[in-house]
Amino acid sequence: MRVLIGGGSGFVGRELTRLLKVKGHEVTVISRQPGPGKITWGELESHGLPPCEGAVNLAGENMMNPLRWWNESYKKDLFSSRIDTTKSMAQAIAASSSPPHSWVLVSGVACYKPSLTAEYTEDSEWTPFDILSKLVKEWEASALLPENVTKNTKQVVIRSGAVLGRDGGAMKQMLLPFWLGLGGTLGSGRQPFPWIHVSDLAGIIAHALEPPADTPSPSPQVFNGVAPALNTNLEFTKELGRVLRRPTIFPVPGFVMNTVMGSERAVVLLQGQNVVPKRTQEAGFEYKYPDLTSALKEIIGS
Ligand code: NDP
Repeated sequence: MRVLIGGGSGFVGRELTRLLKVKGHEVTVISRQPGPGKITWGELESHGLPPCEGAVNLAGENMMNPLRWWNESYKKDLFSSRIDTTKSMAQAIAASSSPPHSWVLVSGVACYKPSLTAEYTEDSEWTPFDILSKLVKEWEASALLPENVTKNTKQVVIRSGAVLGRDGGAMKQMLLPFWLGLGGTLGSGRQPFPWIHVSDLAGIIAHALEPPADTPSPSPQVFNGVAPALNTNLEFTKELGRVLRRPTIFPVPGFVMNTVMGSERAVVLLQGQNVVPKRTQEAGFEYKYPDLTSALKEIIGS
């Protein structure tokens, strides 16, 4: 199968590309920069969708960029980099004479309201309650295809938790302080920490790209892209310290996180949701890293 990946040059995209190539598929990346195996967003708009059987969008300005202050310009970039790219791909699919059989968007679990007790599955109702949930709403809406196209194209949304892997995402920023023995819980540490190993997220995306068995449903299928283990920030911190054999005795108070990151963004780390991958497991997906110990051991390389 030929797969088109918006933002495929990034952390998740590189892992997905590796996996798809191992399975014998061909990958074309959509990027802001031209290069071998790539087309640009401008080329997508001017020439239309290249021939492909599967399409995925992973493009988006990094939400945890430590070098960017949480201001209006950054928030605008977070929205437009996700919504405009997703819209461009959806429009190109809708205009194509041979649309792909699968169209996958990776969004986030920020749509579910943080809670210490609630558990959310893909069936949980939600309405936007803050800026990040509003982003997820608009992002997922921008992926919707017109009804006549959905007869041929399966639409899938994968709501991802924090993606853990050696080459990017949260771990890249956390490993150095933890190695130096400066790691600790964030805020109270009691908040849930929904996470997934990057290799499992790539596996779920590859699973979603498979051709539909029946006529696709007109509305998107949603899968929670999280590990089945429900962990708190404290559990994550202690396990990372244990696997690294380092102490984790330096908690970071909530007010420091709010000041450094901006409270609207720090919410991702200071509060969290218990997210259950009910439909992902019902669909038969088998996790390689279902628990923190196996995931962190693979990442740390012990
Ligand atoms: P990356 O931060 O690695 O970015 C992916 C790609 O997006 C980049 O390689 C880049 O491609 C493109 N991009 C970056 N900024 C912009 C911009 N301003 N405008 C257009 N394109 C841009 O993302 P990940 O691989 O970590 O994540 C993939 C998707 O999954 C993202 O949409 C992210 O929001 C979502 N997600 C990720 C989580 C995580 O923990 N990593 C958690 C939950 C959701 P290029 O430079 O080639 O244009």
